[in-house]
Amino acid sequence: MVIDAVEEKREIIARYRRLLRQAKPVLNEGDAKLIKRAFTMAMEAHKDMRRKSGEPYIFHPLSVAEICVQEIGLGTTSIIAALLHDVVEDTDIQLIDIERIFGKKTTKIVDGLTKIKGAFEYGSSAQAENFRKMLFTLSEDVRVILIKLADRLHNMRTLESMPRNKQLRISSETIYLYAPLAHRLGLNAIKTELEDLYLRFTEESVYYEIANKIDESRASRNKFIKQFVQPLKDEVDKLNIEYEIKSRPKSIFSIYSKMEKQNIPFEEVYDLFAIRVILDTPIEQEKSFCWQVYSIVTDYYTPNPDRLRDWISTPKGNGYESLHTTVMAKNGQWVEVQIRTRRMDEIAEKGYAAHWKYKDNISNHESNLEKWLVRVRDLLEKQDLSALEFVDDFRGNLFNEEVFVFTPKGELKTLPNGATALDFAFDIHTDIGAKCIGAKVNQKLVPINHLLKNGDQIEILTSSKQKPNEDWLRFVISPKAKSKIKELLKENKRYLVDEGKEILARKLKQLKIDGNSRVFEQMRAYFNVPSQFELHFRVGKGLITVNDLKRFKEFKPSSPLKTKPHSEVPDVKTIEQEINRAKGRHEDTLLIGEDMDVVEYKLAKCCTPIPGDDVFGFVTVNEGIKIHRTTCPNATELLANHGNRVIKAKWTSQHEVAFLTGLKVVGTDRVGLINDVSRVISEELKVNMSSLSFKSDQGIFNGEIMLYVNDTRHLEMLIKKLEKVEGVVEVARFDSRNTGPVYSTE
Ligand code: MN
Repeated sequence: MVIDAVEEKREIIARYRRLLRQAKPVLNEGDAKLIKRAFTMAMEAHKDMRRKSGEPYIFHPLSVAEICVQEIGLGTTSIIAALLHDVVEDTDIQLIDIERIFGKKTTKIVDGLTKIKGAFEYGSSAQAENFRKMLFTLSEDVRVILIKLADRLHNMRTLESMPRNKQLRISSETIYLYAPLAHRLGLNAIKTELEDLYLRFTEESVYYEIANKIDESRASRNKFIKQFVQPLKDEVDKLNIEYEIKSRPKSIFSIYSKMEKQNIPFEEVYDLFAIRVILDTPIEQEKSFCWQVYSIVTDYYTPNPDRLRDWISTPKGNGYESLHTTVMAKNGQWVEVQIRTRRMDEIAEKGYAAHWKYKDNISNHESNLEKWLVRVRDLLEKQDLSALEFVDDFRGNLFNEEVFVFTPKGELKTLPNGATALDFAFDIHTDIGAKCIGAKVNQKLVPINHLLKNGDQIEILTSSKQKPNEDWLRFVISPKAKSKIKELLKENKRYLVDEGKEILARKLKQLKIDGNSRVFEQMRAYFNVPSQFELHFRVGKGLITVNDLKRFKEFKPSSPLKTKPHSEVPDVKTIEQEINRAKGRHEDTLLIGEDMDVVEYKLAKCCTPIPGDDVFGFVTVNEGIKIHRTTCPNATELLANHGNRVIKAKWTSQHEVAFLTGLKVVGTDRVGLINDVSRVISEELKVNMSSLSFKSDQGIFNGEIMLYVNDTRHLEMLIKKLEKVEGVVEVARFDSRNTGPVYSTE
């Protein structure tokens, strides 16, 4: 290729001038001069570099700066940082040079945009590390992310000239991280373009097929829209405000996703476009005008009541505000109508940057986004997470829309969709989370893994005896709760290891065993544990007792250093042996209820056994032993198909902890009945009730009471007493399985 240097120079200057022109409205005095210095510096630094396409490299930073101004709405600092974003990485210029001229703030941003080089620890990836680094700077300056998105957008726009393998790698990174990030920041236009570009480079033929079909159907669609909109226009005109009605075609990527998800052809995607009504109203009348237009639309067309979305009263976490309804057109087709003001429209397209513009006018809309930033910052402070884990957690936070819930006092909390009562508990306070035993959601008692829905009001129930366990990690979705639980578990394990170390040293001394490394190696083999750490942990936990150590002393291995192969997951036999050994006697009945810590077992959630119930133990693959009632709905299946994993179990003495159980009370309704029932429970029997809900229908009442009892005897006594209450016809125990949430059976 012959390069016309003069022509090229002219083009560079032309592009630079265009950038300045676009930035003009946001520039303060002296800004243009600074931008010029940055431009000169970047041009000089990149002067011998070309992009894969053959273009001068400087085109890239210029374009990124342009995207920052035009499409995100950023100002001078970002323009400078965008112009310089690749110089430290690719040229001799160093951060210190930038700081001298442009100051600390700009330098911090450029630093955040500069990739980390070198080796990464095992299991990590350069991408994850860089992403993490970028997010670190987010807590200081969100502009790093915005410029990074502009950078990615321009790279995606010019991906054509890259080799195929790079196209695929960059595209998947884009769909995995950057598009959701843009979405989370409310940059809808950029998110949509990134997704469409992803599809174009990964599934080219599908992409063009959909694009063509959209083109082909354009004429008939426009005709339809015209007819649909006309009667609305006549009415909206009467409101005497400026407005605009346009149709928004769905993006190629979202049409594609819909076809994939529902397994339907293009022709069956009914919502190919939405009608958008944009109003120019004074800020204090926004809401009322939007609802007036809503009323006009739904007067004329019948709305689908399930599809009303009011993000005006409660904006989305990314700042999105709009009023959506789906109505039936006269030809029987569903059409989505989006009603919003000019301000809301701009925020929807440009996101965070547009917020700044309106910041003085509307302060509380800002708060949701800031809350999100606080959450991200929380996450960033967890430095012990590996980078990959971190990206995973972070993505979890990106992909989910929120669920809005309330505290008992009516305070609004925003949690990621899929959050549970336990997430909520940890959101309030780590101590509340750590002690959480359940919750009341809208007055009804629910387990800690209960899924929260929009509008739920939640009261957390705690107990000082509660302790987090591994299961909890599966019960939560928010990164905050996850990392807190991991911390608590780690703390507990560390504590047990330390304790175990001390105990072991003491016991060895008593048994006159010399604790040298050879002995440790023998112990490791004898007790079949993978490491010394694990050995200490088991001693600390009481899984290896002094009797075990005595037996170890008596045991004379033929070949002392020959270690038994060990596996991570102990098989049934080992667990049984462990049980017997731990109990110090050779019988195969697991005794539960006296010392929870000797052998680890859990009470199955499908049938919530309490002491006194007939029970059996079931060895699960990952979670140790689970105790089920013999009347458990899962019992037959477990006993029939996995008989070899069943262990006999019985309760020993009463447990000091009370067990949560449920009672159903049926009777004839009468005044004062609820009072009498709760009086019997809490005053006469001194049982702790955790929830009480009654339904009354045509003189019959149905009550559900969740309460804490010590054992079956205690429960039977309670049932007898309740049956004597006047009006009560039947009292029966029920397990949580009948009340709604479905639990895993293992
Ligand atoms: Mn770049």
